[in-house]
Amino acid sequence: MDKRRTIARINAKIKKGEAVVFTAEEFKQIVRNEEPATAKSVDVVTCATCAIMSGTAAILSIPIAERNEFERADKVWLNDIPAFPGPCPNERLGIVDVFVYGTARANHVYGGGHLFREIVEGKQIEVKVKANDRIIERKISKEDLQFARMITTRSAFKNYMAFVNPEEGEVGSIFSVTGLKGPYKEISVTGSGEINPLENDPLLKTIGVGTKIMVNGATGYVIGVGTRSSEEKPNLSVIADMHEMDAEFMGGFVTSTSPECITSIAVPVPVINEEVFSNLKIRDEAVKLPIADIHDRIPFIESNYAAVWQNTDLEIQFDADKCVECDACEVEKRCPTNAFFKSKGFDEHKCFNCGACIFLCPEGAFKGNLGHINIYDKDVPITLRQSNRSKANRLARKLKNLIVEKEFLLTEPVDRCFK
Ligand code: SF4
Ligand code: SF4
Repeated sequence: MDKRRTIARINAKIKKGEAVVFTAEEFKQIVRNEEPATAKSVDVVTCATCAIMSGTAAILSIPIAERNEFERADKVWLNDIPAFPGPCPNERLGIVDVFVYGTARANHVYGGGHLFREIVEGKQIEVKVKANDRIIERKISKEDLQFARMITTRSAFKNYMAFVNPEEGEVGSIFSVTGLKGPYKEISVTGSGEINPLENDPLLKTIGVGTKIMVNGATGYVIGVGTRSSEEKPNLSVIADMHEMDAEFMGGFVTSTSPECITSIAVPVPVINEEVFSNLKIRDEAVKLPIADIHDRIPFIESNYAAVWQNTDLEIQFDADKCVECDACEVEKRCPTNAFFKSKGFDEHKCFNCGACIFLCPEGAFKGNLGHINIYDKDVPITLRQSNRSKANRLARKLKNLIVEKEFLLTEPVDRCFK
């Protein structure tokens, strides 16, 4: 391998408009077609994931009152979602710094993920501060937030999981929209498979502390690995400015137990040597999918991501002609992203392509093949996807385009994630 193949040299090619950049989706097609490609002929592959990522939070600095109007905030709510004031007490400054969890909730259908999307969309947010036995209220929007940063405690997990209920009955779970029915009646899956950044750089040879990435469409950085990360099953902790984010790649997702948070991450993998190039060839068929019992979340059998993402439909279609406008529409009631209302129709920008509607609508108004997974000789249908591969492909394309347009240069990590 050419020893001069460094991130600096790849950046020089990007600046000259000579870099060869593929999205993971494009690169896998080259591999599947057995088209000629060598480590020397590819510079960057953009990988991505878009999924429910519970470990997402925001740090916001909110101007709420004039100086000296109150001493310090005791409690804070944003659209009725509880936030944690501090760590700076901001004494008598009229400002509150808060942490808001993506999984915090105002009620069972509105949580942190919904709030983050509405902030990014520029919507007005109602802030309520309890200070010295007073309640101070103010409406704010993104422009009022001098500081709005998203941070993930764990995201982009390599080899995430599928969940099944081996027992009779139904189990409410964050991995289900209606409750997971058993025994082995349905399966819920998460993970972007072969396009996930950590499937493509499994030993984190190019991804490290300080690597410049994209979070929900905004420039972000890797902080290091996240909680529960291990060398065998790593994940990332990342940070990015919410002011630059694109709402399309984020939002809330209502499960049968609580609202969850959708986050998307794209990572450029620079082809700096043969090993990196070889790892980029991984395909869904080789990406393990551990299947766990929903009761203890311990994997007991294994499949692979080809069952989820090969010969299945990445996008769900709505056929308006088949909708008979039932009095009680289960899709309207249960769609986890509020992408369908009888009165407004189907909103493809809000749709997460989870597939739940296919099983909720008795008239077949929603269509899409989600596939199935064989467990103990039984074909168990996939009834929910908590990763959106279509959106992840879109984010990987966005990152590729920025690199090709010379607007995004790669960074050398300042430290390794694993020593
Ligand atoms: S359940 Fe199906 S057919 Fe009935 S209103 Fe909802 S989408 Fe339309
Ligand atoms: S696939 Fe169906 S249930 Fe899922 S978000 Fe889209 S419209 Fe809603």
